Amino acid sequence: MNSYDQEAIEKFRLSGKILRESREELKPLIRENMPIIEVCEKAESLIRQKGGKPAFPCNVSINEITAHYTSPPNDQTKIPENSVVKVDMGVHIDGYVTDTAFTVCFNPEHMTMVLAAQDGLQAAIDTIHADMSTSTIGAIIEKTIRNRGFKPISNLTGHSVGRYLIHAGTSIPNIQQFTLTKVKKGQVYAIEPFSTLLEAAGRVENQPTKTIFRLIKNKKIQNPYAKKLLKYIDDNFKTLPFAERWLKDIVPSNQHTQAFMSLLKIKAISGYPILVEASGKTVSQAEHTIIVEKDGCEVLT
Ligand code: MN
Ligand code: MN
Repeated sequence: MNSYDQEAIEKFRLSGKILRESREELKPLIRENMPIIEVCEKAESLIRQKGGKPAFPCNVSINEITAHYTSPPNDQTKIPENSVVKVDMGVHIDGYVTDTAFTVCFNPEHMTMVLAAQDGLQAAIDTIHADMSTSTIGAIIEKTIRNRGFKPISNLTGHSVGRYLIHAGTSIPNIQQFTLTKVKKGQVYAIEPFSTLLEAAGRVENQPTKTIFRLIKNKKIQNPYAKKLLKYIDDNFKTLPFAERWLKDIVPSNQHTQAFMSLLKIKAISGYPILVEASGKTVSQAEHTIIVEKDGCEVLT
């Protein structure tokens, strides 16, 4: 990985500032019985109003749904009462991605689990520095969450971010894991612990449903509507994830579904499965994006 020049760092900082402000304005608006699509669209419009672009669709994942749910077009789903709501959002400025997540807890019983994920994140931020092994970071996160009586999700990780890349190659585990990988000075990482109940499986599984997609390959296509849709995806999102909601009015509405399905069929685009806790237990998440420094880090979000 090359290190970033000053101009790139400033774009990461602006991206993080827009994301932080959007998150803080969004948080107090989230209510039980609110349509999920309103949360997604509000998050994305706050980001755009502030001059950023969403780096991926706003994820709103409820209870045992752990990640990768965004509202499909015309989503009628509402935030259930007593639920635990994870909101994960991202911004890019000229491709420079920042990524953050928080949990809104409408179930007082789960409040300490929500705090455990936040504390795991804070412990990692407090100790990370250049050349620290990712294994040590994972161990710190795991120990913090377990000390509070909960369990980290073992098969979800944080990640380095890059230009037009949400996962830029390096993983930051949430458990102690044998690896020789180290974090590097000047590189940008998202750290994102997930906590769940001790009796839970502590890992996620794929669900067949997909609501978030990305470009795989810019293939030659005959169907003019599919071709137009694919060009729009390539021009607007490049390799970054997008929601089907974002493709409104690109082709005539009576042609949209067939065009979209044909792009999936020929694997020009593919979807991310919704991730659910394997034993159906509720999960909490916290996430920030940071730049690693010699003796610490700068939190961008
Ligand atoms: Mn995220
Ligand atoms: Mn992330």
